[in-house]
Amino acid sequence: MYNFSEDIRNVIKEISEFKDKVEGKRVLITGGAGFIGSWICDVLHELKADVFCLDNLLTGSKENIKHLLNKKRFKFIKADVCKYSTSQKFDFIIHAASIASPLIYQRHPIETLDANLIGTRNMLELARKSDATFLFTSTSEVYGNAEVIPTPENYYGYVNSFGPRCMYDEGKRAAEAYCYSYFQTYKLPIRIARIFNTYGPRLDVSNTGYGRVVVKFITQALKNEPLTIYGDGTQTRSFCYITDTVSGLLKLLLKKNIDGNVVNIGNDEEVKIIDLAHIILKITNSKSQIVFQPALKDDPLRRRPDLTKAKKLIGYSPKISLEDGLRKTIEWWKEKLKLL
Ligand code: UDP
Repeated sequence: MYNFSEDIRNVIKEISEFKDKVEGKRVLITGGAGFIGSWICDVLHELKADVFCLDNLLTGSKENIKHLLNKKRFKFIKADVCKYSTSQKFDFIIHAASIASPLIYQRHPIETLDANLIGTRNMLELARKSDATFLFTSTSEVYGNAEVIPTPENYYGYVNSFGPRCMYDEGKRAAEAYCYSYFQTYKLPIRIARIFNTYGPRLDVSNTGYGRVVVKFITQALKNEPLTIYGDGTQTRSFCYITDTVSGLLKLLLKKNIDGNVVNIGNDEEVKIIDLAHIILKITNSKSQIVFQPALKDDPLRRRPDLTKAKKLIGYSPKISLEDGLRKTIEWWKEKLKLL
């Protein structure tokens, strides 16, 4: 049985030195009904913050936050991050609203660009009026098909501005440039997390279909359907379990005197996609075959974060191994699929 409360407790233990920093504080989380956003809502609510969760529910789901909806210190705002305006003020703003799955952002390219360009500008303005600390959830995709592995924050990226990933990659890169410019111009306290592939319960539970590889392989394996590998499966990713990502994000948000920093958040255990398939087949004890499909255009060949800066600046290091995180996620999916 998957134990959600235990995972929340683990995050709180990991960020214990910052525990008192959010009690009674007003925190706006855009994309708060999404995968990472909803986990942040849960942790901050547990730490007695006043949580304002903004989402347009394009890919986020009320299912992720339904247990919070009737709580006194939680407010759900159904709105578009590009248009949202309020006279209210916040102590912290976490801008996490954006589609992140290649399959889904290619279906909604304009919305993806808008959430990162117009949405970021709009939230930075709100932060400026509020005098809020601002955390932007950027992505390892700003590095594109990186030539330096593990990739440090000072690598500039190798990105195609006119191709199937451009709406996400360039949207995030321009959003980072907005954050930089607000930091330079207004001294707005901004922090940027470049999040590497994250997985765990609630990933990809949307009405738009399963996009991310971990969810696809788990659901295919549990249904004894073929696991679909794009290309030959030698491309790599470094997968981070959700509790480790959320701990890193909150450390980055709450640590004092680190404004204007960009930090990789993820797990540096690199794995080939073919090996990921075999690990999932083993854990699920599945009879599924593996089938190979054409490689995707501009699919990065390797991805692994250099976590030196994260460790030094905010004392971050991931705790959950790939196999342990997959076991938890598989348990959660087993329960979920019974409900579907
Ligand atoms: N992938 C795959 N089969 C699938 C889905 C994804 O082989 O059914 C591969 C994909 O080509 C990529 C990796 O898994 O190399 C991660 O894909 P995902 O869409 O999860 O995220 P990305 O890291 O590319 O943004």
